Amino acid sequence: TFQVHCRYIDGVGAVSAGAVLASFMDVTHLEQARQMRRDFVANVSHELRTPLTALMGFIETLRGPARDDPAARDRFLQIMADEASRMNRLVGDLLSLNRVESEERVRPTERLDLTEVLESTLATLRPLAESADVTLALTAPEAPVHLPGDADQLRQVFTNLVENAIKYGGSGGSVELRVSVAERDPAVRGAAVRVQVIDKGPGIDPIHLPRLTERFYRADSHRSRQLGGTGLGLAIVKHIVNRHRGRLRVESDLGKGAVFTVILPL
Ligand code: ADP
Repeated sequence: TFQVHCRYIDGVGAVSAGAVLASFMDVTHLEQARQMRRDFVANVSHELRTPLTALMGFIETLRGPARDDPAARDRFLQIMADEASRMNRLVGDLLSLNRVESEERVRPTERLDLTEVLESTLATLRPLAESADVTLALTAPEAPVHLPGDADQLRQVFTNLVENAIKYGGSGGSVELRVSVAERDPAVRGAAVRVQVIDKGPGIDPIHLPRLTERFYRADSHRSRQLGGTGLGLAIVKHIVNRHRGRLRVESDLGKGAVFTVILPL
């Protein structure tokens, strides 16, 4: 059901078709926004309830059947710790999402060196890469790449993308960050820097690509959950890139690895 607000224009008694159409669209957008909020709350509740139910189940088992079995107790406590840290990651990502969303309209003013941001990001992720037997490489121009931005937020963008490339790219592989600068990049109609995060993993079926940055959207739900993913990483990336007036591109195909490109105006 639509609500239609008819307005008389210019006092001549004629209903403007434009006004009616605009009203239709307002109501439709409002309803879409409401539906998105309802879906989001339902998704968050579901994502929190799953580990919570597991925790409650294990507490009961520890109180009852496993009370006098030290080996079972240790195993269950380990699972409980994993479930608690899953909840902790989810709450952390929800808070990040909330923050980046509320800051999206505030233009970042800090002037930063992007190569420095990328180097510090890779240094933090090196232990994770080593434990997955993945090599990390950075190819960047010699000269520093300065741009207006929020260093912490951009670190978060590349942390999320490189973490995904390590996680999904498969062990024993390589992840490359390739930086290039263009005087006139068609994507932002001006000078820009492109950072590509390239992995040689199993890739993503193209049918998933348009929805990948939606909250809780996963191309492979089982694998994401197994690897401790919250399904919010790329949604956070998208908001931060928007705040920098940039673009995010994904190219991938099954068996062909994935390339995530962040284009930032200089
Ligand atoms: P998650 O916490 O599930 O990793 P993200 O928002 O970071 O959530 O990513 C969304 C989904 O995109 C992932 O669940 C995964 O299916 C897919 N994905 C992201 N990066 C890659 C990649 N490099 N290779 C394959 N699949 C990927």
